[in-house]
Amino acid sequence: MLTSSPRGTTDILPEEARRWQWMEAVARSLCARYGYEEIRTPAFEHTELFERGVGDATDIVEKEMYTFLDRSQRSLTLRPEGTAGVVRAYLQARLYSQPQPIKLYYIGPMFRYGRPQSGRLRQFHQFGVEAFGSEAADLDAEVITLAGDFFQSLGLTGLELHLNSVGCADCRPGYRQELVQYLTPRVGELCETCRSRYERNPLRILDCKNEACQSLSVGAPKVTSFLCPKCAAHLRAVENHLRASGMAYVLDPFLVRGLDYYTSTAFEIMLPGEAGGSIGGGGRYDKLVEVCGGPPTPAVGFAVGLERTLLAMKQQGLTPAPSRGPLVFVAVAAPEARAAAWEVLCALRRAGLNADKDFLSRSLKAQMKYADRLGARLAVILGPEEIAGGWVTVRDLQHGIQDRVNRDELIGYLQQFLPDKQVENK
Ligand SMILES: [Zn+2]
Ligand SMILES: [Zn+2]
Repeated sequence: MLTSSPRGTTDILPEEARRWQWMEAVARSLCARYGYEEIRTPAFEHTELFERGVGDATDIVEKEMYTFLDRSQRSLTLRPEGTAGVVRAYLQARLYSQPQPIKLYYIGPMFRYGRPQSGRLRQFHQFGVEAFGSEAADLDAEVITLAGDFFQSLGLTGLELHLNSVGCADCRPGYRQELVQYLTPRVGELCETCRSRYERNPLRILDCKNEACQSLSVGAPKVTSFLCPKCAAHLRAVENHLRASGMAYVLDPFLVRGLDYYTSTAFEIMLPGEAGGSIGGGGRYDKLVEVCGGPPTPAVGFAVGLERTLLAMKQQGLTPAPSRGPLVFVAVAAPEARAAAWEVLCALRRAGLNADKDFLSRSLKAQMKYADRLGARLAVILGPEEIAGGWVTVRDLQHGIQDRVNRDELIGYLQQFLPDKQVENK
């Protein structure tokens, strides 16, 4: 028990962590380019926030939340998604009183007590953006373009953008009624989950993965035939902006987000092939801020599953460059040189050079072997002779050449070996 992590969690070991750092760096630099600033909200919130903000008729809230009473008997929940907490923070800090839109992004762990057989982690990670305070269609397009650029910057190819509108409070009830009418004589054919959705949340049936439900969906009325003029015009404007930005998309009338606070634009980015499925998605949620007790505030956003993104990158053979070892390994030829070697090591590190040393009192020969193992480019060797003379021996570990360098000149000498400031992109 002490040597295994809880079910549904995983360690990100150093080699894997490099992929994460790369992916996160891409997300951060893109957000900066698009004018989105980072927000960091707590990993847990009052349970009520998710009951309201995620919707209590969802699988997440019904079955998947990590909810617990703290020592003061308050009900708290580990966040199952990022949007509710960001909305809460937007309200708490009164960000609505600043010039709009407020454009935010987050990267962090989320928690859902999912069924283990589906292979999903119970602690997983998302990158998401939320833009508050404008109902303009170009903000939808901006958010979608950002999501597309994220995957493209990582080198992923073959992704498909699915786009739809789920209508608004004016036009969706008419559609919902029509859908229920279509489903009523067919309820018996639905899967068990959808039979319970049928009354509370019929739109969700359209996105059920069950085959019987999917084949029923094919003949179902389409939401796009019921859009009010405002929603229809909004969808057209989003499409125009996407086309102008060069983003390909397919209209998918059965792409739904079944919650009441979702309005108009809905989108999903799908992986190609059989192992496909959604890798990220989002849309407008013009009613959510109000549902959470704030002033009416339009908003649009997306969330991307980072584990799925990494998996897709691996499937497409995209890997970051191998890690570089330290530039310099500081070695001692005799124990009495250790103090001087430590001083040199500290000076090198403070000068901005990646440097390391041995910590196991290895022989000089074993130190060289270890330096090689670390991938060091150069060894700085100190022995009694070097200390007495005020110089060091610098060995080029790649070419086996040695040089004698004055200690005062060492940093300048080593800097010529610094790798060019390359942009690591793979
Ligand atoms: Zn509408
Ligand atoms: Zn179903």
